[in-house]
Amino acid sequence: MLVEAGATRLLVDAGLPLVTLRRQLARAELTVKPNAIIVTHAHGDHCRHAAELSEHYQAPLFVSEATRRSVRLGGRRAPQVFGSRAPFSVGELTVTAMSVPHDAPQVSLRFEHAGQAAALATDLGEVPPGLLEHFAGCDTVLIESNHDHEMLWAGPYPYHLKRRVSGGHGHLSNAQTHGLLRSLDRGVRTVVLMHLSQTNNTPELARASAAEALCDHPATLLVASQFGVTAVGDAPAPPPQLELFPR
Ligand SMILES: [Zn+2]
Ligand SMILES: [Zn+2]
Repeated sequence: MLVEAGATRLLVDAGLPLVTLRRQLARAELTVKPNAIIVTHAHGDHCRHAAELSEHYQAPLFVSEATRRSVRLGGRRAPQVFGSRAPFSVGELTVTAMSVPHDAPQVSLRFEHAGQAAALATDLGEVPPGLLEHFAGCDTVLIESNHDHEMLWAGPYPYHLKRRVSGGHGHLSNAQTHGLLRSLDRGVRTVVLMHLSQTNNTPELARASAAEALCDHPATLLVASQFGVTAVGDAPAPPPQLELFPR
């Protein structure tokens, strides 16, 4: 995810190799280059290419202390370490991290700039107390809707992986996200469903579940795809051919 605010362009997570990231940005006609990178946690789909991207963009890395201890990110510069619940600055953005339950130490991030706020929470096994408060006042909420419970249990994953994904330190199901969205602050203008499983979910199922939870909530509902770019807020809309999933 790329957060742009003022002169700050913060890349959140580094799971894509440089060549793929550049292709995606170019296809979306985005010419911006990240000037800082936050890695949320020590899983490969979030941190594998941190050193490569940091070196290429000459962008400092930011990680939690627990992530710094659990993975060698590589690269020439030591990452900058942030704490939980204590706001810190990344360029013009104010960022606040909150720990969430996952099988690697993980954080939900809140970004603030010039009176606007957005929050991101993916890779969490359950909704911890305080997460809705962490989202308070946000214009945009980006939330995991990883799997459909039935698809997961009827699907091809081995038993231990099904237990891991659905456990308290795994990933949010569509139903769990439904539960969270039912209590969402009415001031939220955009909800983006994130981190959908390719094997155990479909954009249609995730969207239908979230739409039912939001019911008469006025927020716009988007489903992010890993194969294209989803523009939120003042970001320029990507060209129509990137609309791989129906909105
Ligand atoms: Zn992940
Ligand atoms: Zn993870």
